Amino acid sequence: MLDQLEAQSPDALLALIKMHAEDPREDKIDLGVGVYRTNDGATPVFRAIKAAEQRLVDTQDSKSYLGPEGDTGFVHALKPYIFGKNATMSGRIEGMQTPGGTGAVRLAVALAKAAGGTRIHLGVPSWPNHAQILQDVGVETTTFHHAKDDGTADIDALLDAIGKARETDAVLLHGCCHNPTGVDYTDEQWEQIAQAFADKGILPILDVAYHGLGHGLEEDVAGVRKVLAKVPEALVAYSCDKNFGLYRDRVGAFYMIAKDASDLPTITSNANALARANWSMPPDHGGAAVRTVLRDEELTRQWLDELGEMRARMRRVRARLAAADNEAPGLNLAALGKQNGLFAMLPLSKDQIARLREDHGVYMAGSGRINVAGLHEGNTPKFIAALADVTKG
Ligand code: PMP
Repeated sequence: MLDQLEAQSPDALLALIKMHAEDPREDKIDLGVGVYRTNDGATPVFRAIKAAEQRLVDTQDSKSYLGPEGDTGFVHALKPYIFGKNATMSGRIEGMQTPGGTGAVRLAVALAKAAGGTRIHLGVPSWPNHAQILQDVGVETTTFHHAKDDGTADIDALLDAIGKARETDAVLLHGCCHNPTGVDYTDEQWEQIAQAFADKGILPILDVAYHGLGHGLEEDVAGVRKVLAKVPEALVAYSCDKNFGLYRDRVGAFYMIAKDASDLPTITSNANALARANWSMPPDHGGAAVRTVLRDEELTRQWLDELGEMRARMRRVRARLAAADNEAPGLNLAALGKQNGLFAMLPLSKDQIARLREDHGVYMAGSGRINVAGLHEGNTPKFIAALADVTKG
């Protein structure tokens, strides 16, 4: 039977990682992989997390099973950061831990389907796994344009999609630091989005995978909060894998906001059943480390400092690229200064991307997506010169 399987194409980024590793040039630049990097190109464990892990080693006295909801202390400790310090939502919200933001997105889509959802609207381009999850869970995907050529969000395309949606549709949106474009909705646009959802009464699924990597912890979820203030119900998928640097420990959370508090037990019982069938329960360690950080004032301060450093570094790189707008005409580098997060898309042709790799040792995804954090003071001039070379007439 297994010989009936058809080969699936490997992850294109993995091939890129291999090519980069085999390139002997010392000044090669890796803009492919989607992790944060320091000025030295490292992706270190946060100091706050290291300290929390040490405490766990010293004090954890059992690794016995938790339930499908995982570490509820972790889930509740995160809540004020996402939803606001005093956001009780009249008892209409409950959450659970998931294996990464991926697990949370999967649960959101599966729960929407279990509730009768048949179709999900997705802005494209998007994180490639969105489409794969929708397909695998078995809901229809319908797409709209996320970003315009000028590097701003295509709000009309989204409002049109919401306007035309059927009652059983949901719309999946990135809360901040859009992957792969870096293009986020403005505060005014979020107001419009919130109103459109409220008018139409369809389900928003909000994916927050880069909280704190844009403008700040409060600023980055201002749009999400605007939507939640207006709609009767919503699902939120959250990742701690970037903003706590926990990638391989797979730390995520999933929050359900119900129309009425009395609906929550039934909704969460369905989410628990789906979690049990998918992964039984999430891995504990990373969530426990985040809980330990967030329950300790000193570790929280340290985490906020480390996250602030990351954010400031990415803003500096973005500002430097934006200032080089004239050096590589046609790429609209200026727009990168107004965009957010780890990623940006450069309108480069396949040929230009190949020349960047072959002639200059600059590695980026075939789509033109770059990881802004792959750049730093040392290699940004070289990158700009390489862009100037491949774009000159
Ligand atoms: N949503 C988006 C938009 C992402 O870019 C990612 C990861 N890169 C995720 C969700 C999932 O993150 P995690 O690694 O926590 O599963």
